[in-house]
Amino acid sequence: MDMAIQNNVRRVNPRRPFTVNADGIRRIVLGQPGDSGDDNGDYGSQALTHNHPHHAAKPARLAAGVATTACLLAVAHSDRGALDEHARQAVAAAALLADAATEVVLLVFGELNDDVAALGADRCIVLPQYGGHAFAPEAELAALSALAEELQPAHIFIPDDGVAGSDLGRRLGAAGAGIATHVVEISQSGLAAYRQQGSMLARRSLAQIILLEMDVADARLPFLGRGQLADQLGTAIGMAAGAAASSSPFLDLGSKIMAASQMELDEADFIVSAGNGVDDVALFNSLANALDAAVGASRVAVDDGKFKRDKQIGATGKTVSASAYLAFGISGAVQHLQGIKDCRHVIAVNLDASAPMIKRADLSIIGDAQELMTALLDQVRQARSAEAAS
Ligand SMILES: Cc1cc2nc3c(=O)[nH]c(=O)nc-3n(C[C@H](O)[C@H](O)[C@H](O)COP(=O)(O)OP(=O)(O)OC[C@H]3O[C@@H](n4cnc5c(N)ncnc54)[C@H](O)[C@@H]3O)c2cc1C
Repeated sequence: MDMAIQNNVRRVNPRRPFTVNADGIRRIVLGQPGDSGDDNGDYGSQALTHNHPHHAAKPARLAAGVATTACLLAVAHSDRGALDEHARQAVAAAALLADAATEVVLLVFGELNDDVAALGADRCIVLPQYGGHAFAPEAELAALSALAEELQPAHIFIPDDGVAGSDLGRRLGAAGAGIATHVVEISQSGLAAYRQQGSMLARRSLAQIILLEMDVADARLPFLGRGQLADQLGTAIGMAAGAAASSSPFLDLGSKIMAASQMELDEADFIVSAGNGVDDVALFNSLANALDAAVGASRVAVDDGKFKRDKQIGATGKTVSASAYLAFGISGAVQHLQGIKDCRHVIAVNLDASAPMIKRADLSIIGDAQELMTALLDQVRQARSAEAAS
């Protein structure tokens, strides 16, 4: 197998018991859904073709005009308008298990800019007032309970993410509904979760509330949901949540926005990072200051004494998860890329179009770092003074 092909192959943790996708159960998922091999790991040449039908326009899961008689509910918390991979998988699990007479309803706490149909949801209720890091457990529970009361879903799918989803699901479970947590396998006939430190895989029938671990379902669906926004239902659910919030014993004072430059690198949302291609460190620091960004560096830049050791990002430095990572003159060695694997948008400036960092980046600028930094600093200063003048 040549390298180009190998790089296109996506391997889901083979130690997972199995992963559900549109074609059924697969132990190892290669490429897009449908590209997968069989359970024996037998991958035909067809698995590697690029003009696969799943790359064409996707069909709708539910036939047009068909009235549904049952419902599966997926619940997720968004982060700055988007669902993370774990939440997408929880919605996908519901969509993959739903039959032709079952609609998938998605309840989102926080804003949502994602394409609801592509997520696999037929109807979506968005409660933007519970976004960000709002602490509103009673309100969220009231909203979810009211929606469950209204829709009577057969099952409720929530990512067992260790934070908001896990908390909400367990609260609902404590209120009386049957719950299964840490679920690693799911199919129409049942689910399974590890027990006794992973030494035992316990199986049972589907619970009413299902808290899913990561990688249980493949979020790359070969079909679309109806993608309708249920505004009226959202208003009613929002009112139930509001009533619970007003009687809550907690008062959420909100979160304070800090400049990224004041934050620890591993918490920063915006990082400007320098590598060996940055000669003018003073210019780089001015730019980071003007952008209010945290400063990071490659190991070579740190070893050269240009930055302190605590600025090093990578395998032997810090692992960061910024929304935006702007890399100047960094080649993108595997040890560096390891440290930025969780960054959402990577922008790379490099003279070399074949640098690995350019391949990793969502936006690349092939050019001289010093020139780019000067131009960008000019632009930022102009924008800031225009802002101050208005
Ligand atoms: C065990 C081990 C652990 C390691 N841990 C880490 C780690 O935690 N973090 C880490 O970063 N590295 C780590 N490394 C080092 C890593 O392998 C690389 O050597 C290092 O990341 C390279 O840094 P760099 O990209 O800044 O420098 P270089 O490899 O020298 O790359 C410089 C890049 O800048 C570009 N460039 C040059 N001039 C310009 C210009 N004027 N304008 C724009 N672009 C320009 C070049 O095209 C090149 O792509 C580790 C290595 C080992 C062996």
